[in-house]
Amino acid sequence: MLHKNGYWSLLCRGRKKKIVVLTVILVVLLNCFFYVSLELYNTIRRKEKQPWYNSLQFDKNSYVDESGMRVIVGHYVGGTNGGNLSEEVIHKNNYAPVPGAGEGGRPVQLSQRELITARELYSLHSYNILVSDKISINRSLPDMRSDKCKEVQFDLENLPTATVIIVFHNEAWSTLMRTVMSVLIRSPAQLLQQIILVDDASDRKYLFEELDEAVAKLNKVKILRNPERKGLVGARLMGARQATGDVLVFLDAHCEVTIGWLEPLLDRAGSDDVFICPHIDLLSEDTLSYVKSIDAHWGAFSWRLHFRWLVPSGEVLKKKSENPSKPYPTPAMAGGLFAVRKSLFWRLGGYDEGMVIWGAENLELSWRAWQCGARVEITSCSRVGHIFRRHSPYKYPGGVTKVLYANLARAAVVWMDEWADFYFKFNPEVASYRDQQSVANRIELRKNLSCKSFGWYLNNVWPQHFFPTDDRWFGRIKNEKGACIGVTVGTVGLGIPAVGIDCTKQAEFESLVVFTPEGKLMVDEGLCLQQGNGRAIWKSCSDSSKQIWEQKGPRLKTQDGQCLTLVVTKNMHGIGDPLTSKRCLTDDKQIWHFERVPWR
Ligand code: UDP
Ligand code: MN
Repeated sequence: MLHKNGYWSLLCRGRKKKIVVLTVILVVLLNCFFYVSLELYNTIRRKEKQPWYNSLQFDKNSYVDESGMRVIVGHYVGGTNGGNLSEEVIHKNNYAPVPGAGEGGRPVQLSQRELITARELYSLHSYNILVSDKISINRSLPDMRSDKCKEVQFDLENLPTATVIIVFHNEAWSTLMRTVMSVLIRSPAQLLQQIILVDDASDRKYLFEELDEAVAKLNKVKILRNPERKGLVGARLMGARQATGDVLVFLDAHCEVTIGWLEPLLDRAGSDDVFICPHIDLLSEDTLSYVKSIDAHWGAFSWRLHFRWLVPSGEVLKKKSENPSKPYPTPAMAGGLFAVRKSLFWRLGGYDEGMVIWGAENLELSWRAWQCGARVEITSCSRVGHIFRRHSPYKYPGGVTKVLYANLARAAVVWMDEWADFYFKFNPEVASYRDQQSVANRIELRKNLSCKSFGWYLNNVWPQHFFPTDDRWFGRIKNEKGACIGVTVGTVGLGIPAVGIDCTKQAEFESLVVFTPEGKLMVDEGLCLQQGNGRAIWKSCSDSSKQIWEQKGPRLKTQDGQCLTLVVTKNMHGIGDPLTSKRCLTDDKQIWHFERVPWR
């Protein structure tokens, strides 16, 4: 038998043996060193590639859809408003432009060290203030217009003039001033009557004298100060009352307009029956790069009355491709950026002054416009960048929920008719705000303007909507095994595999389905059940025949005669188990019970 060391002794002896052992140890150590260095390098690279804010906790109420459009749901998370930052940091203007930074709308990248500071300062504005402070307030931007738009000639002599109204509450100095400067640089002088800044009771010190001084150097710009925080509605009304231009153009305080932005807005707003919105591009909240947003989008809302960007109707898409420079209708506006003839704005009742701080005013205005004989449109020829934020950085007096629900309740009570009942019935948390609203003057306004019903609006302005109606079936579709058809809360997006949903919680949205006369199974967020490759999926409602389901007794059949089946594997009720379309059999899993639920 060989001794344990026998192999060694056979291979080499004495000094030689030592050298071999040492060499092996050295090689192993060197390998370890290289491996660790490589891993370290990769980790740093990976971190660099990811936007730094990925390490922060975000509101799940926002997502980027497959076309790259940020879909903002709303700011239901109140901001920390500076968190633990020192008074000095909160109140200081650190604008220090670096030559070339962000020029041409390009992103600004920060060093590792700066990224740490940027992260600390993020809660102040919910965008990267360090980057904003490095970019000149006069920076250049690309021309994002299509060729067709560039060809359009406007007769400047005959366009109405504009008052641009920018309201702000504790905005960053550089971002606010860049908004102002972009308007000054890129608006034909004869069309720009004035810019009115309305300070909605900001308390950041750099927005006092320092802003006054900067503005005093500019022509046509003035500041109004709200002594008390009113919110964006109160502040915009204050600006509108002082406007001397023919058209009111509202902008948020973190926008940048691009070449040719004003002419198409004024051209359309001149007609006196339309609220016209620019095409809103994205200013990255991370790098402030100017990013083109998808060509075809329009604004609408979910069952919870959250604003949504959606793909427009087929008809609108067709017209858009035939004539890309022509404004197209939208069921709702995002709210921050639009133009309207002053006379029309006041004739239709301005804004609802009962709305406080933030939220729902865009839906209220959109419904009011459409229902009372005007229109809401988007022109892709006017391109304005806006920083879409994931969080609202402000304080909401009384809490964000109270503010938002009160505003939503007002809008619903005045304009939504039967659908207000639907909204309150399935959003019980908002229902308690319903009776607290004094809206007599707004209802009076609706009467005086002889406005049409919400049903008319849904039918005519947004026939593709996914709300229940009297000629659509509404309720729960429950499998013999127990699980229901529906989408889990939070799974917004496109092309999600469909699974059985727990439908024992009665008031939940998740398992409520609209079944249309043409055979579409719709749920909230405009998703329709679609026959996939075997597996059924939830996809944006479209004209696809794969979204048509025919009810044959207790079965739901696809166009090619397959049966909707719950593939029970996980538990006896099939909750969380896949929905597929399969050959029809005598099978419990293909049996569905239709439990109608009154929708109002
Ligand atoms: N704003 C205001 N007072 C408030 C809240 C907001 O003047 O109490 C301003 C804000 O500075 C911005 C505009 O209203 O210019 C719209 O608000 P925000 O940008 O937060 O809304 P979003 O674009 O995120 O929907
Ligand atoms: Mn905004």
